[in-house]
Amino acid sequence: MDLSVLLLSLIPSFQSVYVLVFYFVYLAIAGEILPGKVIRGVLLSDGSQLRYRCNGLLALIFLVAILGICAKLGIVSPLVVADRGLELLSATFIFCVLVTLALYVTGRSSSDKSSSLKPHVSGNLVHDWWFGIQLNPQFMSIDLKFFFVRAGMMGWLLINLSILAKSVQEASLSQSMILYQIFCALYILDYFVHEEYMTSTWDIIAERLGFMLVFGDLLWIPFTFSIQGWWLLHNKVELTVPVIVANCLVFLIGYMVFRGANKQKHIFKKNPKTPIWGKPPVVVGGKLLASGYWGIARHCNYLGDLMLALSFSLPCGISSPVPYFYPIYLLILLIWRERRDEVRCAEKYKEIWAEYLRLVPWRILPYIY
Ligand code: NDP
Repeated sequence: MDLSVLLLSLIPSFQSVYVLVFYFVYLAIAGEILPGKVIRGVLLSDGSQLRYRCNGLLALIFLVAILGICAKLGIVSPLVVADRGLELLSATFIFCVLVTLALYVTGRSSSDKSSSLKPHVSGNLVHDWWFGIQLNPQFMSIDLKFFFVRAGMMGWLLINLSILAKSVQEASLSQSMILYQIFCALYILDYFVHEEYMTSTWDIIAERLGFMLVFGDLLWIPFTFSIQGWWLLHNKVELTVPVIVANCLVFLIGYMVFRGANKQKHIFKKNPKTPIWGKPPVVVGGKLLASGYWGIARHCNYLGDLMLALSFSLPCGISSPVPYFYPIYLLILLIWRERRDEVRCAEKYKEIWAEYLRLVPWRILPYIY
């Protein structure tokens, strides 16, 4: 694509702004009115706990149904995202900048003393804007951090569905595209089935809401995780049966490890006596799980996620590194995050953590790392 065409297609039209506004308004209303399990978040340092209504799956099903009906009636084109990908990307970027500037200003002027809203100000404007000032800022009683991650994960599926519609319209639907679409759709649906597990993840409990997180949720997740789909729209890959079987195995094993590890930790935090793989759990210092996946490596959940990421790219073959952007990025991110998490846990758990390190020496991949 020539540079001037690329730059022109980045200028957001009113239509792309309408799409975003519709999307956010829908999510805000659906999040408030649809039923869902209300989950208490982790205990914050001041003893308070936030509440999260986990109705993302219902919100997603309704949204896809509404869009499907509107597409059938000719009110909305299923290609609206696939045809306006770059515009939507730049409109989302502008939104991220504006919303994080607003978060910076409101965060700085807040005099709230609670753990979730207490301002953390370093005085460095760029640092505070990038990392955020408050842990769990809210807007009209909506928890913005939870809202943005939901918007990003759903956005990824909507982009994929639009790409799928485009490949059907262009009569270029391939086995690779079908595999990619199925794997991602299962991963995203699974995320919403287990949305409550999100409430105890690092992003929710430890990261303040600044540009880094908002950009990561709203732009990075939907637009870069779908690169394989965009790539397959323009490239044809022939897959053999053994390659398809191997690809499915990477996905299934990755899923088993990822979901199994996250589930074991979640259940353990709720009731540390729950059996793990049919046996009483090995617990260090009454606080850390050292059996099941958490006895194999200290972050087996990251290993599972990395295998899943790889399975999303394998349908694209090995002719280009472009579709491998997501697993490569995730590898770097999770290694970095694992290091930061280790520092946090070492400070928090002290000698208990040292004992856990002794029992479980591997970080992510047993015998290798
Ligand atoms: P974890 O879910 O692994 O959470 C780490 C926290 O769990 C620690 O800070 C500690 O918190 C607790 N913990 C650590 N070890 C133990 C143990 N042995 N027993 C009990 N508690 C323990 O990390 P993340 O929140 O980073 O990741 C959650 C999921 O999200 C992962 O599967 C990851 O792969 C995925 N992810 C995906 C990304 C993507 O872009 N696709 C990006 C980031 C994450 P505490 O203080 O509460 O005890």
